[in-house]
Amino acid sequence: MFRILANDGIDPIGKELLEAAGFQVDTAHIPQAELALGLKHYDGITVRSATKIRQELIDACPNIKLIGRGGVGMDNIDVDYARSKGVAVVNTPAASSLSVAELVFAHLFTGTRFLQDANRKMPLEGDTKFNDLKKAYAKGVELRGKKIGIIGFGRIGRETAKVALGLGMEVLAYDLYEVPAEIEIQLAGNIRVTCPIKVVSIDELIKQADFISLHVPFSEKPILGEAEFGSMKDGVGIVNCSRGGTIDEDALLEALNLGKVAFAGLDVFDNEPTPRQSLLTHPKISLTPHIGASTNEAQERIGTELANLIIDYFKTVKL
Ligand code: NAD
Repeated sequence: MFRILANDGIDPIGKELLEAAGFQVDTAHIPQAELALGLKHYDGITVRSATKIRQELIDACPNIKLIGRGGVGMDNIDVDYARSKGVAVVNTPAASSLSVAELVFAHLFTGTRFLQDANRKMPLEGDTKFNDLKKAYAKGVELRGKKIGIIGFGRIGRETAKVALGLGMEVLAYDLYEVPAEIEIQLAGNIRVTCPIKVVSIDELIKQADFISLHVPFSEKPILGEAEFGSMKDGVGIVNCSRGGTIDEDALLEALNLGKVAFAGLDVFDNEPTPRQSLLTHPKISLTPHIGASTNEAQERIGTELANLIIDYFKTVKL
């Protein structure tokens, strides 16, 4: 019997599938410092983003045949090294794309109607300063008819585009690589509609967009910094549900304080899990603690996909 340690948990559906296929699945978390010892009893490990699988751990546990990452980014795993040692590394890149895209719109609807501030002030002043607050939040804007600039037009960028098109927004897309100029949306009742999108340069996107959403991998150099904020439309809204480091946080704060940027929605931060206070307390920032993929539906899809990948892989392995 193959033994799998789901060190950062796995959706019950994934566990059931694995157990039905004859695997032993342990979900008790082994702390990072004890993994080199604890992992010796397993044939495979699944992680989310918390557990790190570095070279030393791979060397210490030659019994491990597979590393499964429930989710997208694999920055917490030394993938090339693992593969060079014959360890299979699998992930579930598409399972959470729609959940992240929907969170983008949660932040956009929040920012355009000042909900991040209203939700902080209503409990404190809603019964004493109702009319003042009503006035403060009076100048909301609609999303319909506005331009959303999507930087990084991969899985999540495209899902974001589909939601935007459904809302009647115009989509400007920029990617390092060639992307299609139209996209198919599946509506309720299995109705499919093909909609055009505008593929533009990053400069055009930055100058023309009313809202900008980032969907790129981690990069050493921020994609949006002082110069980019300076070129944007006045009153632009910015959303980052990709990775900390892709926006220069100092430049963002300055642009918010100058009124250049009307609001930001942030799910990811430079110093996770300790983002800076000036972001956390800013009245123009809608905040979530890196929960883009955290919906029941995404976790179920991740668990199912991961279990099937593990089952398929171990069919080829001899004990
Ligand atoms: P993907 O690989 O499908 O798409 C990324 C796209 O970005 C690619 O098309 C790539 O060509 C493009 N790209 C890379 N560098 C670029 C650059 N400098 N400028 C423009 N385009 C660039 O990835 P994805 O699944 O869409 O994920 C996108 C991001 O979202 C990743 O950073 C991922 O880690 C993050 N993510 C966040 C959450 C969350 O909880 N907030 C959940 C899942 C994924």
